[in-house]
Amino acid sequence: MRAWTAPHVPTLQTAGGRLRIHDTALDDLVEVEPDNNEARVYVCGITPYDATHLGHANTYVAYDLMYRTLLDCGHRVLYTQNVTDVDDPLLERAAQTGVNWEDLAEDQVVLFREDMTALRVLPPQHYVGAVEAIPSVIDLIESLKLTGAVYQVEDDDYPDWYFEVRRAPGFGRLSKLSDSEALALFAERGGDPERAGKRDPLDCLVWRMERPGEPAWDSRLGRGRPGWHIECTAIALQHLGADFDVQGGGSDLVFPHHEMCAAEGALATRQPFAKAYVHSGMVGLHGEKMSKSRGNLVLVSRLRASGADPMAIRLGLLAHHYRTDWEWTADSLREAQHRLQQWRDAVARPSAPSAGALIDELRAALRADLDAPAALAAMDAWAAQSGDDPDAGAAVTEAIDALLGVRL
Ligand code: ZN
Repeated sequence: MRAWTAPHVPTLQTAGGRLRIHDTALDDLVEVEPDNNEARVYVCGITPYDATHLGHANTYVAYDLMYRTLLDCGHRVLYTQNVTDVDDPLLERAAQTGVNWEDLAEDQVVLFREDMTALRVLPPQHYVGAVEAIPSVIDLIESLKLTGAVYQVEDDDYPDWYFEVRRAPGFGRLSKLSDSEALALFAERGGDPERAGKRDPLDCLVWRMERPGEPAWDSRLGRGRPGWHIECTAIALQHLGADFDVQGGGSDLVFPHHEMCAAEGALATRQPFAKAYVHSGMVGLHGEKMSKSRGNLVLVSRLRASGADPMAIRLGLLAHHYRTDWEWTADSLREAQHRLQQWRDAVARPSAPSAGALIDELRAALRADLDAPAALAAMDAWAAQSGDDPDAGAAVTEAIDALLGVRL
């Protein structure tokens, strides 16, 4: 699948150093130490039916900040993102609205690309749809079958294929949930603990046999379509290999999605799936998580259409640490627009304080678990000071673009 056009990233004089980031599995900061200086990153992409609300934008801007920090550390970055372009929520939405599911997915991906471009988010090198990944999904299921961990339920109509999650070394270490918590979340987030014939209620679907009216593909497993988790596992392993540096996504993906991916990947390759699991917080509106089902979406495309500067939207997101849950309010955009104007005025001054100390502060903040609020505060302080360096405005403009992705 085609990604979107990359924005230009100014190259700053490199300072080296390492990014320390919060790993959910360890619940601690870990240093990203890429093999051969190439950081391999996988971030779970959208299911294209309600793109792009501010919750999505918050997630992809957070990983964009990570991408930019890794580049600034002097690493190369190999970034893969998927699009879940065939799955139950997409098919349900298409059926409800009477739209062809492929057209719905295509339209939403177009919108997502436009929003990411406007927000100056760096595109992944591999942008991969579930549909185009079906051959790798089938290969991965076949290799898991050889370990005995993939089985068919006994069902005359739909003998679907499942993955026996507890076969995997370390299953449960990422989310650290009790059995009852895991079961409740599994049921809430697309799982089917009640399905008869499974070896364990948490076993996850890897290949769903064809149902009337649903899309399906021929395979050695029978005609059907991929389950959700196996799609990301297959795409990540194909494009990044095992034991890659960062598996990322929103915190609502810790369980079951990332736990299942880690289990499938670890059993298939006999290596850890990823070195670190990174999760961004949820954006709420009026006390609730933003989601289509609650009807409280703030769409980036609508904000843009109403005249909001995409750089102000980006600054509004960066005003919150990526790991916190926070609320979008009418003031969020107003405050961000005000800050953007102050910064633009500050870099346009004929002279200003030298850029060096500010760039050091920005780098220190970002390398410490992507502390964007600290970086914004450093820039606010610089903008409020006067100085006599005539080149500072241009140097700061480049640094803010390179490190924060905000073009002044
Ligand atoms: Zn995923």
